[in-house]
Amino acid sequence: MKRVVVLGATGSIGTQTLDAVSQHPDDLKIVGLAAHSNADLLKEQAQKFGVSRLALFNEVSGSGIPHGMAALEDLACMAEADIVVISVAGVIGLLPTLAAIRAKKNIALASKEVLVAAGELVMPLVREAGVVMTPIDSEHSALFQCLQGYRSDQIAELIITASGGPFRGQKQAALKDVTVEQALNHPTWRMGGKITIDSATLMNKGLEAVEARWLFDVPIDQVNVVVHPQSVVHSMVKFLDGSVLGQMGWPNMRLPIAYALLYPERKPNDLKPWNPIDTPNLTFEAVDHETFPCLGLAKESSRIGGTMPCVMNAANEIAANAFLKGELSFLGIPNVVELTMQEHNPVQPTLDNVLQADEAARSRARALITGNQI
Ligand code: NDP
Ligand code: MG
Repeated sequence: MKRVVVLGATGSIGTQTLDAVSQHPDDLKIVGLAAHSNADLLKEQAQKFGVSRLALFNEVSGSGIPHGMAALEDLACMAEADIVVISVAGVIGLLPTLAAIRAKKNIALASKEVLVAAGELVMPLVREAGVVMTPIDSEHSALFQCLQGYRSDQIAELIITASGGPFRGQKQAALKDVTVEQALNHPTWRMGGKITIDSATLMNKGLEAVEARWLFDVPIDQVNVVVHPQSVVHSMVKFLDGSVLGQMGWPNMRLPIAYALLYPERKPNDLKPWNPIDTPNLTFEAVDHETFPCLGLAKESSRIGGTMPCVMNAANEIAANAFLKGELSFLGIPNVVELTMQEHNPVQPTLDNVLQADEAARSRARALITGNQI
């Protein structure tokens, strides 16, 4: 029986994690739940799963739930936990992730921003503590599954698949007046708001490329993206001998979530299995980098290294959320990221430097947006 803490329990990944746990009552048990401010749903979940340890980031008066970053870190370290699911929206999950690793908890990671901003800090700590970090992101779950039994020095290329998002096939001029509603209309996945915007700009693939670079210890230029609109092949590994392995399935996060929690076991579930004849027309096409510059910006930040990926991610979090609030145009998102990166002088990514660079980049990105400089 693995005892599970979920940080971000009330979100898209969090609620699907609880569904996956309900499917495997003999193998998984929830012992702690945390969210940002949705105390009502958190309490409902706590009652359903018989959980007494809760935490919120924001104080919700009258809820009686411990709050603040320290409360999240305490929950991530709780003695009764074996594995901590990190599924908060954004890099805010960094400190609880570090706390959990130091407390020798295994990590099931959905919040890709954590590795993007601080992979150089997190991965050595994972190795030092001897814990296992299993990816929840479907592409990384696919890569992780294909790499079982192989070493990183046997990899020629990691090929991450992208649905292409709602604006696949469009040119930049057509995206000038994109509305929030259009951008949130993802063709194959139902997810939280910020990641859905990242999927429309293709920044999601940029963040995933950087996440893969850290998880699988390969140079960023060995991580490439191919558009695959059906979202059936979740990603592929090309080995040094030219052989390519891929992992297939319907686009449903329940499968990678269950795999991340049950690893190295595989257990039956009630999901509809995929058969090749169900999707006879699987197609692949190149990314249009001119229309979607975010992927290139993210890879460039990783090439530069140091605190630059953290700055790229912080600027994107501010820009994507500003677009969601109607404060920035769709095409303004890559502009905010690029300008914020241009003004940053990267330094060694110590924890202090990462936190400072994150804060400074957020202020700069906010100033660019409110000052109408985009
Ligand atoms: P949602 O917006 O649906 O959920 C976010 C969750 O995080 C909520 O539970 C929210 O709580 C909580 N949260 C936000 N800020 C804080 C904070 N400061 N402290 C504690 N909890 C916080 O997002 P998703 O579930 O879609 O995404 C979560 C992460 O998983 C992202 O990093 C995303 O990139 C990644 N991911 C998501 C996929 C998906 O299919 N959704 C696929 C692959 C990766 P509250 O409800 O109280 O606001
Ligand atoms: Mg993904």
